[in-house]
Amino acid sequence: MIPSVLPTYNRAPLNFVKGEGSWMIEADGRRFLDLGAGIAVNVLGHAHPALVAALTDQAQKLWHVSNLYQIPEQQKLADILVDNTFADTVFFTNSGTEACELAVKMARKYWYDKGAPERVEIITYSGSFHGRSSAAIAAAGSEKMVKGFGPILDGFVHLDWGDIDATRAAVSDKTAAILVEPVQGEGGIKPLADADMKALREICDETGTLLILDEVQCGVGRTGRLFAHEWAGVTPDIMMVAKGIGGGFPLGAVLATEDAASGMTAGTHGSTYGGNPLACAVGCAVMENVLADGFLDDVNRKAGALRQKLEGLVAAHPEVFETVRGQGLMLGLKCKVANVDVVNAGYANDLITVPAADNVIRLLPPLTITEDEIAEAVDRLDKAATHVTS
Ligand SMILES: *Cc1c(COP(=O)(O)O)cnc(C)c1O
Repeated sequence: MIPSVLPTYNRAPLNFVKGEGSWMIEADGRRFLDLGAGIAVNVLGHAHPALVAALTDQAQKLWHVSNLYQIPEQQKLADILVDNTFADTVFFTNSGTEACELAVKMARKYWYDKGAPERVEIITYSGSFHGRSSAAIAAAGSEKMVKGFGPILDGFVHLDWGDIDATRAAVSDKTAAILVEPVQGEGGIKPLADADMKALREICDETGTLLILDEVQCGVGRTGRLFAHEWAGVTPDIMMVAKGIGGGFPLGAVLATEDAASGMTAGTHGSTYGGNPLACAVGCAVMENVLADGFLDDVNRKAGALRQKLEGLVAAHPEVFETVRGQGLMLGLKCKVANVDVVNAGYANDLITVPAADNVIRLLPPLTITEDEIAEAVDRLDKAATHVTS
């Protein structure tokens, strides 16, 4: 008999009933150290007082109002994002996949309005993940994502991850945009080299192609900069954001330059809940904390400490781990044993990690994790690694 919850997830038998900072408490009382953060969502940890206050204050005032009216919290969050990024304008969504939908629509409308309606193709890369909507699975293109869901949305060109020469060759008078994650998350924590990011920007500049960055997982301080592309010193034309920006409240966004967004006039797009007052009040509190003086310096310092300890862990368990990779507090351990076995051994040691493709386990702790908690986490990883081989 089908479960009452549609069984699209393989769920671990863990029932978390409370969260405090970097910790999650199981119904049986066990305290788990959380290196998953709801897959890079809880950037300020669980039950952060500023987020609890933002949500409950707004809940007393107004939960929902249609986008037919002004929404001051939405305006404030858009202004914060515009003031602190390449973007001139922002559309709010409820998720990453909805951000993908708009990014694709925006790129195609851009060329339609420029009198080049044949420029519809979007170049994407192997191992990428952009969400689960029809456009997002077509963008990823892997058999695992699209099989059985045809007809698949047309107009995506799939290249090997990071293949700049193939990209140069693939861009044509049909190309609307290049869509790429600066650091692949689901694909197994694979950062695009700065030089490759710069090369993509150059290809786009030479051909007018729009550069769409998917920073749903790597954005909002995760890599130690507000957005990951800042490390390469280039900016996109369109950017997808979600996960971390809501700190646990469902919120996503598409950020764009004025030019890239020029086709999206009144009536061309919408969302009932997108930019909802509750979500945006929380989003403002997230951004204020991440942008606070010293916050990102702290992330970089802690990331350095974690990375160093993980290098030691890999060296101590060469039969379990192959290497550590990633940037900031978006790190991956490539495993030699099955990654899910390491994740399960983590559970047995009250530690949460997240599996990814390429036999990697992801470490995506709250950005507020302390140095003591980092030491404790690596201790538990060490126990898990011993456990998995015994
Ligand atoms: C999670 C994720 C998405 C999809 O976000 P949802 O909120 O689950 O729709 C898209 N892109 C990347 C890079 C992601 O990690």
